[in-house]
Amino acid sequence: MKKYSLRNHNTFGLNVFADRFIEYDSEAELLRLIEEGEIISPYLHIGRGSNLLFTKDYEGTILHSRIKDITLLSEDGDSVCLRVGAGNVWDEFVCYCVEHGWQGVENLSLIPGEVGAAAVQNIGAYGMEVKDSIISVETVDISGRRKTYAVEECDYSYRHSLFKTAGMNSVFVTYVNFRLKKSSHYVLDYAALAKALASHCNITLCDIREAVIRIRQSKLPDPKVLGNAGSFFMNPIVSRSYFEDLQRVYPAIPYYDIDAGHVKIPAAWLIEQCGWKGKSLGHAAVYENQPLVLVNQGGAVGADIVRLGQAVQKSVKEKFGIDIQPEVMYI
Ligand SMILES: Cc1cc2nc3c(=O)[nH]c(=O)nc-3n(C[C@H](O)[C@H](O)[C@H](O)COP(=O)(O)OP(=O)(O)OC[C@H]3O[C@@H](n4cnc5c(N)ncnc54)[C@H](O)[C@@H]3O)c2cc1C
Repeated sequence: MKKYSLRNHNTFGLNVFADRFIEYDSEAELLRLIEEGEIISPYLHIGRGSNLLFTKDYEGTILHSRIKDITLLSEDGDSVCLRVGAGNVWDEFVCYCVEHGWQGVENLSLIPGEVGAAAVQNIGAYGMEVKDSIISVETVDISGRRKTYAVEECDYSYRHSLFKTAGMNSVFVTYVNFRLKKSSHYVLDYAALAKALASHCNITLCDIREAVIRIRQSKLPDPKVLGNAGSFFMNPIVSRSYFEDLQRVYPAIPYYDIDAGHVKIPAAWLIEQCGWKGKSLGHAAVYENQPLVLVNQGGAVGADIVRLGQAVQKSVKEKFGIDIQPEVMYI
């Protein structure tokens, strides 16, 4: 059987193969594929593969949505509600909202991937998370059952949702329903963004989008040029007492308060302190401008990236006693 190359379906640019690759254009087509038994197990629903690390060939069915319609469900003086197909490119949707003057996703400009995955991942950047603009998530499961999850049912937290939990890989997101505001209550708490906009008098959504794009392009490698999956590790959250012990040894350690008992530490700082910035192992490397990003320097296989990730984790554990966990999903 001829296998399907996933090289163009993962931003690490790994040339892995799947037994089968199925795309569908509508919810009705997905339901027909399920009814006719076309989705042979094991299966994995992907978006653009910008948060996936294929460690080997995928011996199963890869599914991909091309549901791209966007419907205006309702509109009043304060907000609009939109039903957005899961297969839309995330950043094209952000651009569409900004052009219409709808606020709520502009800080999430240029994040790679698709709308369905954004709701699975609870993407976040520059002080904003997508969950805050989601009303509900429409799904179809492998038995053909349709279910809409209200945002309260999605169990959203930092880079997490119900859809990432065990057993939920048989649930496919078809549409995401958003509420976007018409107000100008922008989220500008993030220091780098506030600084980039400091000279603007009347800040617009376009200004914010452009500033976010500029900041991102200056910090993050373009996957088309250097294969990567964005932040490879999540920022660890530790108890405040553990943090205070560390702070006595490393007074410059950066942190963000989470609550009275917990503190978040930037994983990038921990990795840099371990001397990994710009270092490579085989064909994989820690990106020189942002140590949270692991890159494929060309010719890497999944195992190279796994090996580098493990070496980085080990160093951080030895030096700081902290377990950093991958944000990227190993397949
Ligand atoms: C350069 C770069 C920068 C990045 N910056 C950020 C950032 O600032 N903030 C951030 O949060 N993330 C960031 N990411 C990570 C990534 O963009 C997000 O996780 C994104 O949401 C993944 O989208 P995707 O379509 O590529 O999904 P994939 O990587 O293909 O899949 C991600 C998960 O979603 C599931 N999935 C995808 N589509 C569906 C569907 N329709 N139904 C059910 N499950 C589905 C997959 O099974 C998988 O579990 C970055 C990545 C890169 C490469």
